Amino acid sequence: MKDNQALNYALNNSDHILFIHIDDTLNNEDSSWGFKRRGKHRSIFMLQGLEELQKDLNAYGHKLNRFVGGAKNIFEGLIKQYKINSVFCEAIFAHEEQEKEKSIMELGVTIHAHFQSSLYMPEDLPFKVNDLPDTFTQFRNKIEAEGIVPEDPVVLSERIKEILPIFIVKENLSLPTFTEDYVNSSFPISDKKFKGGERNANLYIHHYFKSKYPETYKLTRNNLMGIECSTKFSPWLSLGFISPNQIYKALKEYERKNTANESTYWIFFELLWRDYFRFLFMKYGGEKFYKKGLGLSNDNFQHDEKKFIAWKDSRTPSSFINAGMNELNQTGFLSNRMRQIVASYLVNELGCDWRAGAAWFESQLIDYDVYSNYGNWSYISGFGTDPRGGRHFNTEKQKSIYDQSGAYESKWGKP
Ligand SMILES: Cc1cc2nc3c(=O)[nH]c(=O)nc-3n(C[C@H](O)[C@H](O)[C@H](O)COP(=O)(O)OP(=O)(O)OC[C@H]3O[C@@H](n4cnc5c(N)ncnc54)[C@H](O)[C@@H]3O)c2cc1C
Repeated sequence: MKDNQALNYALNNSDHILFIHIDDTLNNEDSSWGFKRRGKHRSIFMLQGLEELQKDLNAYGHKLNRFVGGAKNIFEGLIKQYKINSVFCEAIFAHEEQEKEKSIMELGVTIHAHFQSSLYMPEDLPFKVNDLPDTFTQFRNKIEAEGIVPEDPVVLSERIKEILPIFIVKENLSLPTFTEDYVNSSFPISDKKFKGGERNANLYIHHYFKSKYPETYKLTRNNLMGIECSTKFSPWLSLGFISPNQIYKALKEYERKNTANESTYWIFFELLWRDYFRFLFMKYGGEKFYKKGLGLSNDNFQHDEKKFIAWKDSRTPSSFINAGMNELNQTGFLSNRMRQIVASYLVNELGCDWRAGAAWFESQLIDYDVYSNYGNWSYISGFGTDPRGGRHFNTEKQKSIYDQSGAYESKWGKP
């Protein structure tokens, strides 16, 4: 609820408000790749967060009305019944999300969609989004040359205490209980510190910036295992439980009170990568999802379904890759380095369609985010905008650098 411009705009421009969350049936159905779009790991994390949101809204006399079904049908019913004229939400510049927005607009309501998930807002950039450079380095250099400072997070509007709620008289959906044990995970969602929700996100960030880990982040961020080697902010960021501006503020405070070094700078650097993929989507829109990515590569493209299934089910000829896929499938989390290694293997060694790999990550990752996932996949496979082509990782070399002792492989070697 904090640093949420769309929410504040809704509160400041309405007499009554109805809070809804629709779990679109699409998420629980098989995609064209033959598996669920959202697997159990992210479902658990999301439901934990919704439970907390429900309590937070209750504290202000509101209720989160939850639905499962086709979004358009549900909206149609609600708009008629409650004479709704405006819908407020986050704007997401990806093909499906844009189509959904259009389909709801066709129901005769005004949509107020706010783009708000990046650190820098498009209007802060020293160029128009359509002139976004095609490489990250050029983007970063331009931002840094201008010394642009990101906005401070916004506080929740006081109107939340006054605005009249619309209640739907209907039993709310109950939350399923989960028994899975994520104890071995680098993001163990069964541990209360790692649960979904705004409160945990804030507590965790506070805890991280109270520690000395930011000072050594750049030296440890490529480790394959462990909780403290990287920030672990991504799952909360991806579901909107925390904003990059809240993180940036905490990072700057840390630098003022403790140390500002290359490692602390690198946390900002990675948040810039996150922004870069967002602006790429804004510039190129749905083209990202075409088989040839942005169309800048002329490679002959192929897909081998059998090899893809072996990859996703951890049955490739490489025991190192299989360990990575086991970790992903069992926990919903994978270090950035391991994500790069298994992605490169699928595309370069197995000759598969990058979108199949991206779809599997979408299904499994707790921190799935349309921009970062499809952005990184197209970057690695050479179907993004970078004129240097893709990234080809030598699996054995990567293993010898990052898993010299074999500890990673022995931890995740078994399905
Ligand atoms: C093939 C592939 C798919 C990916 N899919 C996703 C995804 O669906 N969702 C997602 O959030 N990240 C994705 N990433 C990016 C990155 O792997 C994760 O953000 C990171 O591993 C999360 O761990 P962390 O929070 O500890 O990251 P840290 O290393 O601590 O980085 C701090 C923050 O910077 C951002 N960040 C770091 N690296 C990247 C990057 N390469 N691209 C974009 N943002 C970055 C994240 O928000 C992260 O929380 C993907 C990377 C690859 C190679």
